Amino acid sequence: MARTGSELTDLITSRLRDIPDFPKPGVVFKDITPLLADGVAFGAVVRDIADRRRGTIDLVVGIEARGFIFGAAVAHELGIGFVPVRKAGKLPGRTHSVSYDLEYGNASIEIHEDSFVGGERVLLVDDVLATGGTAAAAWDLLEAAGARVVGFEALVELDFLHGRERLVGRDVHTSVVVSGD
Ligand code: AMP
Repeated sequence: MARTGSELTDLITSRLRDIPDFPKPGVVFKDITPLLADGVAFGAVVRDIADRRRGTIDLVVGIEARGFIFGAAVAHELGIGFVPVRKAGKLPGRTHSVSYDLEYGNASIEIHEDSFVGGERVLLVDDVLATGGTAAAAWDLLEAAGARVVGFEALVELDFLHGRERLVGRDVHTSVVVSGD
């Protein structure tokens, strides 16, 4: 049975765990492992994303590492393929690469050069939208690699970090919005 938006939000919220000062002082880490361990909650999240995007995408792209968990499950639910965006140096083939700033540090991400024939409709998935740097960089990376990115999905949005401002004009959906820090 499909849940209403607020039922899903309550379910996700009840399965998130705040870890203060991880990975560095001042950051409250949103730990999704309790949600993953609950098959009902995990399934509800995956079906919610899949149902919203069904028939509108050709591939799902997940951002390492937690975006792999949700992205691959959504792709499987929809019967379509999954493509990983990985941290620098992890992919074995030739890659496109982009560097960007994070809430805590900076990073480079990569995708295999031959991931797309060209023009595939792609959904980008991660667990948390924080400053939006990762999602914006991944979006640009995918388009440079030839995909047409139709949207971004994350379970949790940290509103106070204004990630949406990095994604203005783009289709962004998050299930739980956390305000204040
Ligand atoms: P950002 O680029 O700042 O939007 O950060 C998003 C990426 O960092 C995602 O891949 C998240 O998994 C991770 N991340 C950033 N902040 C947090 C947080 N407070 N709790 C959990 N994950 C986070």
